[in-house]
Amino acid sequence: MPTVEEAGRVFTDPTAYADDERFHLACALLRSDAPVHRVEVEGFNPFWAITKHADVMEIERQHELWLNEPRPILGPAVSDEQQRQMNMTIRTLISIDAPDHPLMRAITADWFLPKSLSRLDDRIAELAKRYVDLMAELGGPAVHSGVVTRGLPGVGGRYTAEQVAARQWNDQLTYLFKLSNEEIIDGGKGGNATRHLNHSCNPNCEAVEEYDDAGRLELRFQTLVPVEAGDELFIDYGLTADDGSSPADYPCRCGAENCRGTMLDLGPEAEPHPGLVAR
Ligand SMILES: [Zn+2]
Repeated sequence: MPTVEEAGRVFTDPTAYADDERFHLACALLRSDAPVHRVEVEGFNPFWAITKHADVMEIERQHELWLNEPRPILGPAVSDEQQRQMNMTIRTLISIDAPDHPLMRAITADWFLPKSLSRLDDRIAELAKRYVDLMAELGGPAVHSGVVTRGLPGVGGRYTAEQVAARQWNDQLTYLFKLSNEEIIDGGKGGNATRHLNHSCNPNCEAVEEYDDAGRLELRFQTLVPVEAGDELFIDYGLTADDGSSPADYPCRCGAENCRGTMLDLGPEAEPHPGLVAR
C-alpha cells in the first residue's frame, strides 16, 4: 500500500497512467485518507488533487471561486512557464474564465445537448464509417518517394496535378510520391532523408497522410513494428507506372517471404491513395 505522499505522485508520473492498478489504488487511498491533497513534487508547481466526485462537482459549480486560468492543464513547471511566456495565445473553453467563458460557451452549448446530438445520429454514423474506411484504406500498402529523383527542372518539391501535366519530364526514371488528392511530392527537390527509404514487400514502415494546421496534406512515416537503432527502414512503394509498364519492368528482389516480385502495386484499382508513381 502506498503512502498518501506516494499516491499523490501518480498524477505527475507518466508511467502511472499506463498502470491502471497502481493508478486506481492510489486514487482509492487518496479518496479515503486525503480527498483534498496538496501535491508537491520536484519539477511541478504545487497543485491540489481532488479525488472525490462530489468535491469535483462542487468545484465545477463555483466559477467565481475556482478559476481555469492561468493553469488549466496539469503539466511540468517548465511547460507552465512556456504557457506563461506564450501569453495563452490559444484560448479554448477550458482555459478561460468569465466574462469570456460564458459568452463563448453560449455560442455552441445548445449544439451538444443530448437532444441536439440525437438528431445527428445517422449523419455521425455515416461520417464515422466513411473515415474508418478511409483509414483502413490508407493503412494498406503505402509508400514513399524513395530511390532517386533526378534531372527535374526547377526547384521545390511539390506540384499540383495541373503542374505535373504541364511539366516536361525527362527520359530518366523518376519516382515521385503521389498523394490521395493528386498532388505530387518530389522527394529529391527540397526533400529530406526519408527519400532514401528503400522498398520491401514486407516493410517495417508506412507512409501516413495527415493534414497540417494550415489544412495542407502532409506525409508522415511511421514504423509498423519495433525497430532497433541501425536497422534499415523500408516501405512498400506500391508503385504506379504511368506509362503502362508491366510488373516485370519493376522487379522486386527484397527477399521477403511474401515478396510479390514487383514493386508495382498489384492491388485492385481503388479510391485515390498515396503511393509512388514512376515517370
Ligand atoms: Zn518484394
